[in-house]
Amino acid sequence: LPFEPHVAIGVLSVALALSFFLLVRLGQVHWERLKLQLHHDALTDLPNRSGLEEELAKILPAALAKNQTLALMFISLDGFRQVNDLYGHRAGDAFLKQIAVRIRVRLKRGDLLARVGGDEFAVVLRDAETQEAVAASILEAVRGCSNLCSHHIAITASVGVSLFPEHGKDALTLLRLADLAMRHSKENAGDRCTPWEAGMTATDFRTGEIVAMIRSALDDSRLHVVYQPVIDREGRIAEMEALVRIHDFLLGSIPPDEFMDVAEQTGLIHELGAWIFRAVCGQAKVWNRAGYRGSVTVNVSPAQLEASDFAAQVLGYLEEAAVPPSSLVIEITEKGMLREPARVGATLRELRDAGVRISLDDFGAEHATLSHLGEFPVDSIKVHGSWTVRLPGDAQARQMVSEAVGNAHRRGYKAIVEGIEESTQLQEARDMGFDLFQGYFVAPPLEAEDATQVLACDTNPLVGMVQAGKQER
Ligand code: C2E
Ligand code: MG
Ligand code: MG
Repeated sequence: LPFEPHVAIGVLSVALALSFFLLVRLGQVHWERLKLQLHHDALTDLPNRSGLEEELAKILPAALAKNQTLALMFISLDGFRQVNDLYGHRAGDAFLKQIAVRIRVRLKRGDLLARVGGDEFAVVLRDAETQEAVAASILEAVRGCSNLCSHHIAITASVGVSLFPEHGKDALTLLRLADLAMRHSKENAGDRCTPWEAGMTATDFRTGEIVAMIRSALDDSRLHVVYQPVIDREGRIAEMEALVRIHDFLLGSIPPDEFMDVAEQTGLIHELGAWIFRAVCGQAKVWNRAGYRGSVTVNVSPAQLEASDFAAQVLGYLEEAAVPPSSLVIEITEKGMLREPARVGATLRELRDAGVRISLDDFGAEHATLSHLGEFPVDSIKVHGSWTVRLPGDAQARQMVSEAVGNAHRRGYKAIVEGIEESTQLQEARDMGFDLFQGYFVAPPLEAEDATQVLACDTNPLVGMVQAGKQER
């Protein structure tokens, strides 16, 4: 074929134009996809935080022009982490999707729903007047979701609300204030909605800080267990009570009184409790193999006891570590027993039938009688340290404590005394007939390695202590 320059140029130009068009189009598609990824949450198919901010940038000026009041709700799930931890991330993802759908159906057409964090959602209501009803409906929707994964994980929502334009005129301010208000809901045990109020600041959110501390301790293995020996009348170690601590780089070792209430209120106790049981059963296995024939004692909070499969969980931890149930004592408080007596009674019976022993901790802190315990399966009572400090001088304390020992023995329970700080208290408690003794005078809570050394001592130093206490008197 003869070479025709004008045809070649024509073909080349068409090819160039086509490539250019294709490149632009590809770029556009790529940009659209990128934008979608940037503003969109793939899991729930909702706008993410920046998507919400972008939407608000359009909605807010329009609402201002129309003199319209909007409500922004910040929703955070309480106790969601357990779903992930107990059932895996896939179950967690499925749960979040369900939550998103359930919240969506409670909203009106023009309202906006976004997922702004792991377990955090935000809602923009076009009609601020409906906020109370919508919040109640969302709380109910989330509560109803607890059954999706497991009946024992109590998932609730903490909601905070800020109003446009009254509280803030831009997306960031509205989100921040609703988030602060949400933290107040969390502070008050969750499952509630709190409207933002002037004066709500970030400074009084100790609960939020504690929650963050527990969570990060669980993540970075900064939780640890110390063990306090409990000795029998001969001075031999009969039990090692496990007491949990959080190690903080700045604050040092943080005792449970500082974080247990918050763990209970927020449902974190389930995760924390599971961690503790695993750690203690692992330690019991090591000690059992080394020839220790005593028990390990684990404190259990009321919320843990109320989980319908608590007994199965505990027996599972024991089996995992190949530790016989007879090596475990669980300590519960009267509060733990009496909040849901029927359910808790059944759980305790199941555990006890398997060989686990049940001890009633802090006896005398609230009630000083055993009669209201009825048929609860109990093996021992532990008299609260607030009575022990009054021994031996205080006549009223002596009477109360010795009656407690008598009543316990009549019912076939062992009597344990905690908080022994002086030799005279140890003597008095021995004379009153207590079976087991615990307190700083006997031994402080020990790091696991130190506890192992004490257990390994041929001549147990604690035996000597009992003897010394005896001679001093
Ligand atoms: P508790 O079970 O009654 O434990 C006894 C507490 O008294 C421990 O405090 C222990 O360190 C302290 N103590 C020991 N000897 C003496 C003494 O001679 N004098 C005085 N004044 N105190 C003594 P801790 O470790 O701070 O624990 C406080 C409470 O936190 C425990 O009281 C228990 O109710 C709870 N707790 C501890 N560990 C756990 C846990 O793993 N799970 C749960 N649910 N609660 C726990
Ligand atoms: Mg205890
Ligand atoms: Mg106690």
